[in-house]
Amino acid sequence: MSSLRKTGDEESLPIVRKRKQSGADDRQGGPAKGPSRVKVLVPLAVPTAFDYRLDQETPLVPGSLVRVPVGQKTYIGAVWQKTDSHDQSDYDFDRLKPVQEVLATPPLPQDLIQFIDWVAGYTMSPAGAVLRMSMPPAIVGKQAPARTLYLRHANAEEPEGLSVARKRVWEAAVDQPKSVSALASGAGVSQSVVRAMIQANHLRGIEVKTDRPVRQPDLALQGPKLSTEQADAAKALAQSVKRENFETFMLHGVTGSGKTEVYFEGLHAALARFGAQILVLVPEIALTTQWLERFEQRFGVPPIVWHSDITPAARRRAWNAVASGEAKVVVGARSALFLPFKSLGFITVDEEHDPSYKQEEGVLYHARDMAVLRAKLADCPIVLASATPSLETQHNAATGKYKSLILKERHGGAVLPTMNAVDMRVNPPPAGQWLSPVLTGAIKQALSDGEQSLLFLNRRGYAPLTLCRTCGHRFECDSCSTWLVEHRFRQQMQCHQCGFITGLPSACPECKNTDSLAACGPGVERVFEEVSSQFPEAKTVVMTSDTMTSSARMQGLIQQIESGHVDIIIGTQLITKGYHFPRLTCVGVVDADLGLRGGDLRASERTYQQLVQVSGRAGRAERPGTVYLQSYEPEHPVLQAMMTGDADAFMQAELAARQSYNMPPYGQLVAIILSGTDVRTVMQYGSALAANAPDRSDVRVMGPAPAPLARIRGRYRARLLVHIQRRLAVQKIMAEWTGRVKPDKSVRLRIDIDPYSFL
Ligand code: ADP
Ligand code: ZN
Repeated sequence: MSSLRKTGDEESLPIVRKRKQSGADDRQGGPAKGPSRVKVLVPLAVPTAFDYRLDQETPLVPGSLVRVPVGQKTYIGAVWQKTDSHDQSDYDFDRLKPVQEVLATPPLPQDLIQFIDWVAGYTMSPAGAVLRMSMPPAIVGKQAPARTLYLRHANAEEPEGLSVARKRVWEAAVDQPKSVSALASGAGVSQSVVRAMIQANHLRGIEVKTDRPVRQPDLALQGPKLSTEQADAAKALAQSVKRENFETFMLHGVTGSGKTEVYFEGLHAALARFGAQILVLVPEIALTTQWLERFEQRFGVPPIVWHSDITPAARRRAWNAVASGEAKVVVGARSALFLPFKSLGFITVDEEHDPSYKQEEGVLYHARDMAVLRAKLADCPIVLASATPSLETQHNAATGKYKSLILKERHGGAVLPTMNAVDMRVNPPPAGQWLSPVLTGAIKQALSDGEQSLLFLNRRGYAPLTLCRTCGHRFECDSCSTWLVEHRFRQQMQCHQCGFITGLPSACPECKNTDSLAACGPGVERVFEEVSSQFPEAKTVVMTSDTMTSSARMQGLIQQIESGHVDIIIGTQLITKGYHFPRLTCVGVVDADLGLRGGDLRASERTYQQLVQVSGRAGRAERPGTVYLQSYEPEHPVLQAMMTGDADAFMQAELAARQSYNMPPYGQLVAIILSGTDVRTVMQYGSALAANAPDRSDVRVMGPAPAPLARIRGRYRARLLVHIQRRLAVQKIMAEWTGRVKPDKSVRLRIDIDPYSFL
């Protein structure tokens, strides 16, 4: 008995953690009664569950999936009520609509139910809208397509008078059920022979699901031998797994320091210990084939992948395999956080600083913050990994709320790249060009050394603005307050807000002048033009969402870069993450000031993070890298931090500034975004809100003001920004306030708790 308690034995026992179970099976078989009332939350934008009549006697555990009518339609919803709760609404029992079907799918786990309620409360979103992220209606309840395999009837005697061909089929149709084609080819006969035997009822059909079983990770595989600092960090994670409880780690390591290898060890420990499920969140654009291959090497199987771009069939398979617990390793973009994990044992949020973790549509949540909550409810460790952790995370690490794991060195003696600021006032590019002679000189050198260069500019297309030199006309989108971006490769102008596309103009629509249109400013296509004319012999590629239209295309290009067939890469942020190109030594940032111009709360922090990430692509292997930051303001603290490499000093200064203004992570911000088709109604409602602002000294309301993007898709937009001096239950204040001032029906109100976008 006691020997079972020893750690050594525990490792080899198929221990299932009790409290990791969904708990769904706790309360079955209560007192059997007649029809009862049950609350069901449907995946629609509704704030609460509706009452239904359940005609079966066995009560349903919370989270059970049921089909219920709503209006004229039916939906699959989830039972949303504690079995022991007696809160009965007074809705007339006789008028309740019945639950139509109880699905065989496992009930949603209890920790997920809590999570959904909590996220809805925090983000002030309808609970049904959050539930919808956990059970996308298009896939939940859908069965895998079945096909029919054939076999002899059990213990059947060989039918009399079989032809030679049929006899051979009969011989083959034993043991395993087989498909018609397998039986035919196994017996060396045509398929019509098999079909005729099925017709004659000599063989019986068996329906099987086409989904293959999920391949399980191979835990015998070893990772690479870790350096001392890597091993220390990995050990801390493994120990946390052993403690079996919630703990948050900040894994802060320079680019190329082996953060991935370290958290792989944590994932491995969790898989090995409980057979628990693990989740890795990755920004969508960092979920590259390169990354997935690396994962497969370490764990022996490809992970279950979840993001916006997978097929409906893959989504359905993934969802079901996660719900059944069969899928152990899941990698996904932020929405994977809402999957119905049966027993979650470890979460990693990679590139935790990445702005794409904030969802800016529908439910406005931040996946990194919500992942910490999810880990807490699942009672498991979580790692937030980054070369440039967010200020929020660094603050939590500094105050001891999170544990810090620090990697200071690049793996294998690779050195961090040398930083150069190119002062564009001193070394300007030739007229009408965008690359300083300093940068083109460096590219030239890299070319002659047989090395690769990367030019980074976070702007798609040829030019962000086209105007008429004669009359000053600017090409704008008809329904948004944005400029149309010229895409010369595709011969189009496009609105990046609503997607509107039109052909390239040949004349100014205003003054009808031809030869008068001027492209203003560079996009990646324009840099491509410049590079191509300067280095016609070089193989140059552009990597943006416009050119990388399929993953096959992307993969092909990545392989060309890896194998050294590409000399110069020009790319947007698509190229800043997740890649490891050993021959890439020269990185040029075309406009290092670009991110600073918006001037919002996080502009400096975000620019710094982006510059570090893109610089981190340089010199990751034996050859050292050099980075050139083109700037008109190299004295800016962000550029200075890049040059000195003193990230800590920069972050400290940023934190101090935030603290002195009580900005996040010290105080809080909430944005209110109003939109409608009539600008006056929108502004009037905004003013009414401002006039009725909460009467508290620690809450300050700014606005309403027209949003920087004052019109999107024909709707006018205004914003209010609420600054709360300290951390408190801001949702209550917001709900009370916006409930007090009823909007005009035509005005849509959205509340963004902890806003990241100020547009
Ligand atoms: P990060 O995630 O911090 O940028 P990676 O985990 O991608 O760093 O590591 C950078 C490169 O170094 C990768 O190719 C990785 O496989 C390799 N690497 C890191 N640590 C080790 C190690 N201990 N042994 C062998 N290779 C390693
Ligand atoms: Zn538009």
